[in-house]
Amino acid sequence: MKAWEICNDDLRLHDVGTAHSREGETVVRVSHVGICGSDLPKLLRPNSFPLPAPWRPGHEIVGIDPTGRAVAVDPLVPCGNCPRCTTGDTHLCAGLRRLGWERAPGARRC
Ligand SMILES: [Zn+2]
Ligand SMILES: [Zn+2]
Repeated sequence: MKAWEICNDDLRLHDVGTAHSREGETVVRVSHVGICGSDLPKLLRPNSFPLPAPWRPGHEIVGIDPTGRAVAVDPLVPCGNCPRCTTGDTHLCAGLRRLGWERAPGARRC
């Protein structure tokens, strides 16, 4: 699989291996990935954000799930176990991962 990654102001298409799902997750066959307005400040001022190196943007994701349905991916991934998550306030999860941000890589394409 290939993905665009940015490292040291260099944007390159890298081979990033095969995606594997963990418990509770599924692998989506990505058809399109958008560049969001929230990605632009990170692209223009990368030193102003806590980004991993390499950084893989791409949190606006659509594709096909294993059953053949077209899906849009929610890029917010709560832990599911903390007090905030267990009361339904997953948007307040201290362990929230955001695909394509600082804690989780963005989409890659098959
Ligand atoms: Zn966005
Ligand atoms: Zn949580």
